[in-house]
Amino acid sequence: MAVFGKALHRQLCASQSLFQGSWRYVSSSFKASSLVLDRCLTPRPKPDPKSLVFGKQFSDHMLTVSWSAEKGWGNPNIKPFQNLSLHPAASALHYSIELFEGMKAFRGVDGKIRLFRPMLNMERMHRSAERACLPAFDQAELLECIRKLVEVDQDWVPHSTEASLYIRPTFIGTEPSLGVSKANHALLYVIIGPVGPYFATGAFNPVSLLADPRFVRAWRGGVGDCKMGGNYGPTIFVQNEATKLGCQQVLWLYGEDHEITEVGTMNLFIYWDNKDGVRELVTPPLDGVILPGVTRQSLLDLARDWGEFPVSERRVVMSDFLSALKEGRVKEVFGAGTACVVCPVERVLYKGENYHIPTMENGPDLAKRFHKQLTDIQYGRAESEWTHLVV
Ligand SMILES: *Cc1c(COP(=O)(O)O)cnc(C)c1O
Repeated sequence: MAVFGKALHRQLCASQSLFQGSWRYVSSSFKASSLVLDRCLTPRPKPDPKSLVFGKQFSDHMLTVSWSAEKGWGNPNIKPFQNLSLHPAASALHYSIELFEGMKAFRGVDGKIRLFRPMLNMERMHRSAERACLPAFDQAELLECIRKLVEVDQDWVPHSTEASLYIRPTFIGTEPSLGVSKANHALLYVIIGPVGPYFATGAFNPVSLLADPRFVRAWRGGVGDCKMGGNYGPTIFVQNEATKLGCQQVLWLYGEDHEITEVGTMNLFIYWDNKDGVRELVTPPLDGVILPGVTRQSLLDLARDWGEFPVSERRVVMSDFLSALKEGRVKEVFGAGTACVVCPVERVLYKGENYHIPTMENGPDLAKRFHKQLTDIQYGRAESEWTHLVV
């Protein structure tokens, strides 16, 4: 946990405290102990876990905490799920002063509800907030407010080891002004809703990818390593191009030598025999264009703990990858993220040519092993320090 983006965090903290330290001393954080609970009087029926579509169903309650430069943080509120009322000039709407997180709560085989490494999400959200010039907060206090929200809406956590409750913490600038400047008003809120399995059939469905170097997701010096809304809107056009060409997702390339970076909104892993003939697991390093995924970190931690093969965080360029493919050295390629845990890749369309990736022919043994280990932890089938109990 300590190594997760720590250097960047320190760097950002240092530069921020030089320029905009004022609010840090006004009111450092809201507290979970001051939570105000306003219960929904008409709870809605819970959907059948088999019919769930990602992101369309929400629970009965939401968490909100407002902030202003003048008054600092208000008390956190859990209240009935409802629309927001925003000034039409709100800075989130005009300049994307907006960031979010994505995490899940799981109902285990023992009936307990667990979060998976949630402090990594809190730390990442805090880093995104610093980069957006939104105010600091105590990460453990936010986590406790989220735990409480899930507890209040616990009936919304699906009774299924194929489904889960998706949690969407969101932080927006609500400054009612068109000036391109730091928001003096902000709203942190959390909405939650049940989601079904990523792979509808339950089996691993491999995906095909469009790798088109004309499109770039993130760049060094930018904010691709923060979960800011502004990173995602512009990818929908590229996703559409992929769909038109018969591909399911985008393989994001970067730079002159077409570095392989991420898959859609997932981190990327390659399991192969490298140039020196060593069987290794490799993923791109956190050097600014990669979103530091909780799943990515967990796969690295697990594989290093097994100690069975070298695990590398290093750049991989398209030409090296294609040589390895031609020479039959690539075993498995998969995406990694909260939505699916792991997602096998079977084909890449690059410069008009389709390249088959033999992930499925190879099991995919490693992807399946990762998937089993993580879901065993999440659904309480295996003991782990990575879980945080809700109830
Ligand atoms: C959220 C996200 C990931 C995956 O992160 P997890 O914490 O593992 O869910 C990877 N890449 C991008 C671009 C993302 O937005």
